[in-house]
Amino acid sequence: MALRRDTEVLIVGAGPSGLATAACLKVHGIPNVVVEREACYASLWKLRAYDRLKLHLAKKFCYLPHMPFPDDAPTFVPKDQFVRYLHDYVERFSIDPVLITVVEHAAYDRASGAWRVMARSVATGETTEYGCRFLVVATGENSHGFIPDIPGLVNFPGEVVHSSFFKSGRNYAGKNVLVVGSGNSGMEIAYDLSNHGAKTSIVIRSPLHVMNKELIYVGMVLLKYLPITLVDKFILLLAKFKYGNLSKYGIVRPRMGPFKNKVTTGRSAVIDVGTVGKIRTGEIKVVKAVEKIEGDEVVFADGKTYNYDAIVFATGFKSTAKKWLKDDDVLLDKEGMPKEKFPNHWKGKNGLYCVGFARAGLHGIAKDAKSVADDIKLFCKNG
Ligand SMILES: Cc1cc2nc3c(=O)[nH]c(=O)nc-3n(C[C@H](O)[C@H](O)[C@H](O)COP(=O)(O)OP(=O)(O)OC[C@H]3O[C@@H](n4cnc5c(N)ncnc54)[C@H](O)[C@@H]3O)c2cc1C
Repeated sequence: MALRRDTEVLIVGAGPSGLATAACLKVHGIPNVVVEREACYASLWKLRAYDRLKLHLAKKFCYLPHMPFPDDAPTFVPKDQFVRYLHDYVERFSIDPVLITVVEHAAYDRASGAWRVMARSVATGETTEYGCRFLVVATGENSHGFIPDIPGLVNFPGEVVHSSFFKSGRNYAGKNVLVVGSGNSGMEIAYDLSNHGAKTSIVIRSPLHVMNKELIYVGMVLLKYLPITLVDKFILLLAKFKYGNLSKYGIVRPRMGPFKNKVTTGRSAVIDVGTVGKIRTGEIKVVKAVEKIEGDEVVFADGKTYNYDAIVFATGFKSTAKKWLKDDDVLLDKEGMPKEKFPNHWKGKNGLYCVGFARAGLHGIAKDAKSVADDIKLFCKNG
């Protein structure tokens, strides 16, 4: 027999998106409950991020609504300090998520005009049925680590790990390690592995923009005043000056500029933490796309083969919202990502919203949370 609990707003997920939404609602005096499947809030940052991670963007673009970072915080905040900031955020807005509780089903009940949300305690198995007028999906773009289906992978005798479970290169000294994926996580993990003495290869198969944190920072500031095409041109010029032509190392720039590319495709520029230097010196080897795996031998698209002891997949994530969210044909597509493009992506029908699905990082999360809370406030005011 399920327990019953009613609230005005139910927020699913206690990552930065869920916490930011709860805080914004609190400021408006709107009651809400946050439900989180893990035993802690901010689980991605506490449990599923590598040790040397720092925020890729400057702190002025990464704070949650109503609470900037302290003045003495470094411009690029390290993971542990970001977790401390989130702790202070939770305290400040008295957010008390219901932990170890996974939302398994949510459907809209036309008769009562409310959402019925079934949540199960992972600890006791007990279920609670929440009734709420407004439902906020804040389960993240990064809900489930994605590993591609590569022929032969199941028989690979070495270690296979997704980037969300990779902590440090410490345990890989002297080993042959392949990193699949050349986004920010893949490039930084490759650097970390190499620093710890692993013989590291990285798969780079798509064009990418290599930048550093300072160039991205300058670009983001300029975007406030100048059109995106102009900012792209300027930043690209500086990036080319700094890095030169990297095509002989297998790194080719996309045709679109870095900021336009981000807005259009969702693909971020890669922020170099030292990986490019190691690629130039050959300490990190760039390889083509993986075709198949035969035993411990990986066969690449150019026909070359190498043996590996471990493979790290930095191949991204999938949203899992559609597994439990029913009665929605407006907000999210079958991949659990918004149907509408930014900035119209956050609102569905019947009081359904999403926060943190715009591929716009913490900056986008802060914007979404404010928009959702303001919209709910408007509804509440108009009865
Ligand atoms: C390695 C990494 C580094 C990043 N660095 C930056 C950066 O520097 N700057 C930046 O702006 N952005 C960064 N991002 C992107 C983004 O800002 C973060 O991913 C951020 O944590 C997203 O917050 P979120 O709350 O939307 O999702 P998450 O942090 O993933 O939180 C979602 C929460 O929902 C919970 N959940 C999922 N399903 C259920 C369910 N069915 N029931 C209950 N709970 C559920 C999860 O356990 C999780 O705690 C980074 C992302 C990654 C992966």
